[in-house]
Amino acid sequence: MKKRYVLFFLFLICLISVAAKKTVINNFPLFGKFIILDPGHGGLDPGSVYKNEYEKDYNLNFSLSLKKNLEKYGATVIMTREGDYDLSSPNTAYRKRSDFDNRIKLIESSKADLYLSLHMNSLNNSTYFGSQSFYSNVNKNNKLLAEILQNNFNKFFNYDKDYKLIDNSKYMYKNINTVGVLIEYGFITNYKDRKNLKNETYRLELSEVISQSIIEYFT
Ligand SMILES: [Zn+2]
Repeated sequence: MKKRYVLFFLFLICLISVAAKKTVINNFPLFGKFIILDPGHGGLDPGSVYKNEYEKDYNLNFSLSLKKNLEKYGATVIMTREGDYDLSSPNTAYRKRSDFDNRIKLIESSKADLYLSLHMNSLNNSTYFGSQSFYSNVNKNNKLLAEILQNNFNKFFNYDKDYKLIDNSKYMYKNINTVGVLIEYGFITNYKDRKNLKNETYRLELSEVISQSIIEYFT
């Protein structure tokens, strides 16, 4: 009799833990995933410039919104920078190269499940707008991630852009083995993108599309 009670009790515990695990997966589909966000530029390196606006500031603000959104789904998120600085080593003669090297080192040593580099595009033609994903072929899974992201950008914002292969001259991306892509999440040269990206509601909306794409990628 006693043994039956023990067995029933164990069965109950199993049932509860399965249900609890299911709840975690349903509510926090990125639970257990470790994501590293890489806001481009910073400090002396402003990135693209439009009048007195710098890409580096947009990158940081957007990354912070995206971090918040990813954490809502249970992901653990770190950033390569959390303030206005670049990652170059002090007194280096080759600031940009050193910045890239330290970003690569950080991303690779983090053992993250995925990284996202966040930049803005810039063109002489100010009519171009919207988000685009770029992948290197170093990790074979990058292409799929870029494709899912682009399909969702296109669907949600109703445009028809291509995701693109990064050519191998881009030093940083050809040296990262971790799964990930570069997202150019808007054009600093476009009025509407600049206006939207100054707005937290829009940033979270765009973050939501990215988070859903990452959930899709992992499932
Ligand atoms: Zn950039």
